[in-house]
Amino acid sequence: MITGDAAYIKKINRGLIIKEIIKEGMISRADLSKATDLTRATISAQVADLLDEDLIVETQLEHNSVGRKPIMLSLNGQAGYALGIDIDYGRISFTLSNLLGCSVTSSIKEINTTDYSEILKLLYKTIKKYKAKYADSRYGIVGIVIAIHGLVGKDELIHFVPRFKWKDINLKNDIEKEFEIDVHLENNANLSAFAERIFVHHEADNLLSATFHSGIGLGMMMKNEFFRGHDGFAGEIGHMIVVPDGKQCNCGNKGCWEKYASESSIFEFLSQEKQIPNLTYENIQRWIDEGDEAVHKIMERFIYYLSIGLNNMINMYNPDVLVLDSELLRIYPDSINKIRNNLTSSISHYRELTLSAIGKKSCVMGACALAIKNFLDVPILNLSYENSYPKK
Ligand SMILES: [Zn+2]
Repeated sequence: MITGDAAYIKKINRGLIIKEIIKEGMISRADLSKATDLTRATISAQVADLLDEDLIVETQLEHNSVGRKPIMLSLNGQAGYALGIDIDYGRISFTLSNLLGCSVTSSIKEINTTDYSEILKLLYKTIKKYKAKYADSRYGIVGIVIAIHGLVGKDELIHFVPRFKWKDINLKNDIEKEFEIDVHLENNANLSAFAERIFVHHEADNLLSATFHSGIGLGMMMKNEFFRGHDGFAGEIGHMIVVPDGKQCNCGNKGCWEKYASESSIFEFLSQEKQIPNLTYENIQRWIDEGDEAVHKIMERFIYYLSIGLNNMINMYNPDVLVLDSELLRIYPDSINKIRNNLTSSISHYRELTLSAIGKKSCVMGACALAIKNFLDVPILNLSYENSYPKK
């Protein structure tokens, strides 16, 4: 009989083993035993279970030296699929990944409605299509994680989505009762932070990821866990006041950071300056390349205000890695160095400040990765951003 403690230990060991197999791509039983500090017998028993479940596969390595060819273990990426969904204003992105986080198929649906029942219908239709398409794999769709650009409570109820005017909505329940699939909701900035940790910054134990788009979002990963605060709403950093009695924000306060350092605020300043209503990144890139003085002034002010907010964040959290996602910072020359030069206080400490290598798709990739983590029930994952497949 397996007692509660034994079952718990077995589960912990299983998580360690899966985590190590994914990290290494391919590993022998002997190396797995060394890497996890588990006995050969424990590894053997657990590996037999994982093979039975089709979660891992064996490969006999070819080599020329004398001796036994080692049998290598790797995760069976095609055993199941994770569905990540990003419900953004005007568009819903879907990405289906295999169990190694490698994107298999993606689609984007433009939407011109914020009506919940219409959007729910569209979600049902698309999920049904994916579910049918991958039904033949061992586990089918193993989980769905949905990114919400708003407040998601610890109970996974949607508390408020400003641009959709959604309040107190139980999307998780509405989808789970339609499909027999595990569904989780998460704030979009949290999922971006999760993707940065899982796919890029494997060593970061204290990671902040700030996205500068229509507002400013902050996702925080502390010791491989989300930092959520009391209700689950932590990270609303865009509403940190940086200018007393400054510009009116629709949160009810004045002088919020995102009125000065979000991309939409910069588009607004530039539109006013140029008297052009709908600007594109290409317009801005051209003015920057041409050395347009007014545009450079606005971009320098953007970096100045952005640095003020980052200074405050760094002093509050002393981050290991701080990832910034902004297309404007990407197209403005030397932007990251300029920000670093503004962060010279003798008190502020961080290890690494960097632009996101993943960019806007970090949210939906983080959603897939979280669904995989939940399904495999591992403490943390290290997936490869460049090449998720084990090398053969
Ligand atoms: Zn505000």
